[in-house]
Amino acid sequence: MALQSGRRLLGLKFVRRIIAQENEIAMFSTTGPTNAKSCKVLVVGGGTGGISTAARFVKKVGKGNVIIIEPTDTHYYQAMWTLVGGGAKKFTDTSKPMKSVIPSGCNWIQDKAVKFDPENNTVTTEGGETVNYEYLIIGMGLQLNFENVKGLVDALKTDPNVVSNYSPNTVNKTFPALQNLKNGEAIFTFPSTPIKCAGAPQKIMYLADDYLRKNGRRDNVHINFNTALGVIFGVPKYAERLRELVSKRNITVNYTHNLTAIDADKKEAVFEILGNDKKETKSFKYDFIHVTPPMSAPDVLRNSNRLVDSTGFLDVNKETLQHVKYKNIFGIGDCTNIPTSKTAAAIAAQNGVLYKNLSLVMEGGNVSSKYDGYTSCPLVTSYERCILAEFGFDGKVMETFPVDQGKERRSMLLLKKHVMPTIYWEAMLRGYWNGPGVFRKLMHFGKS
Ligand SMILES: Cc1cc2nc3c(=O)[nH]c(=O)nc-3n(C[C@H](O)[C@H](O)[C@H](O)COP(=O)(O)OP(=O)(O)OC[C@H]3O[C@@H](n4cnc5c(N)ncnc54)[C@H](O)[C@@H]3O)c2cc1C
Repeated sequence: MALQSGRRLLGLKFVRRIIAQENEIAMFSTTGPTNAKSCKVLVVGGGTGGISTAARFVKKVGKGNVIIIEPTDTHYYQAMWTLVGGGAKKFTDTSKPMKSVIPSGCNWIQDKAVKFDPENNTVTTEGGETVNYEYLIIGMGLQLNFENVKGLVDALKTDPNVVSNYSPNTVNKTFPALQNLKNGEAIFTFPSTPIKCAGAPQKIMYLADDYLRKNGRRDNVHINFNTALGVIFGVPKYAERLRELVSKRNITVNYTHNLTAIDADKKEAVFEILGNDKKETKSFKYDFIHVTPPMSAPDVLRNSNRLVDSTGFLDVNKETLQHVKYKNIFGIGDCTNIPTSKTAAAIAAQNGVLYKNLSLVMEGGNVSSKYDGYTSCPLVTSYERCILAEFGFDGKVMETFPVDQGKERRSMLLLKKHVMPTIYWEAMLRGYWNGPGVFRKLMHFGKS
């Protein structure tokens, strides 16, 4: 009798262990059949914003309590692609396997988020998994809409002189095209949508200018900056310096010119002239064209009406980063409607604010930390020099160093080329970098 009940108890324990193991697998496996998973913090997007915030929260809420949904298997340090396009860095130095940057203790679902249900705190993936969350952080970046320029997708495939630093699939075309450019028309474009790193369309142009000068070909190539904007840069201080620069370097700037089509057979690029009721267009012959494609928030987010504003970007409070409607949802980085220049540098500063505010919400309090719009754009002006633009909301200049950063400086280029990558991989992605705010205060004796 005692032996029998002992056996039953052992059997029961065994069955319980199997069920427990199956539950564990159901909650945390990254593959397997359709099932529901739960977590305290769900991060959608494993880019700059997603990984750096996940790294902080897994330390707070513990192993197994953070899930990251990210479809790709490679993480890129995109900020380095300008130097890759200019032939000054290797593309292979800009990437790492995604699994190596997923913070330890986080669970990674390698899939796309295809449906947000903020009323029921769930996100569904393309593979059919539904993830329940207590708190959601959205860091999905920007979608590159190459197809919105007629003929561009094909031209990028077939014409070696049509290039773009903006995608991992095309950035390696830029330098060979530059090396082959002997004479004619070079065009650099800027679209009519928000983009990542608003300085990048110009940086590659200044590198091209420098490259052609160093190789004795500059007099044979006419350089055009065709921008959909009405200004060369959004912050007056840096805009003034850049206007001086283009004039000194003999670069033609065509404002309000928005690229709409490329005809690779005719080697022609068509631009609509904005702000003109007549719907005027103008064609330019090209021998080299660097295209910055139109961009938007990813379709799945754009189509989630309850989460986005009228422009399709995640609708968050620009200072607290909390969603305007759902208090358990926060946003970070390029996919949000925060009115500042979309950069990794901005994300560094947003990281600290998001961490403090979401932690307060988790503890039952209210958000209190405020983001000041800090962002930075190292405007590479040659292979040796850079203007380090740093600013916040409404174009307020927020320079870290006690020197005029509007001047082209060798030190700033060294910072961009050699120091920033280490900060990115070793500190930021591990959740230890809030941007240079502390150093700025120190260097300005607490006044800035
Ligand atoms: C050429 C170039 C030059 C730049 N120069 C600089 C610079 O000098 N300084 C600087 O600070 N910044 C620079 N940037 C900008 C910087 O790289 C971005 O601002 C930053 O990476 C944005 O981070 P994010 O997390 O918002 O988006 P990303 O890093 O782009 O990550 C978004 C992630 O979301 C994932 N995702 C998308 N859709 C889904 C989905 N449906 N489900 C799940 N996941 C999804 C993507 O796969 C991606 O991994 C540059 C960028 C480029 C391209």
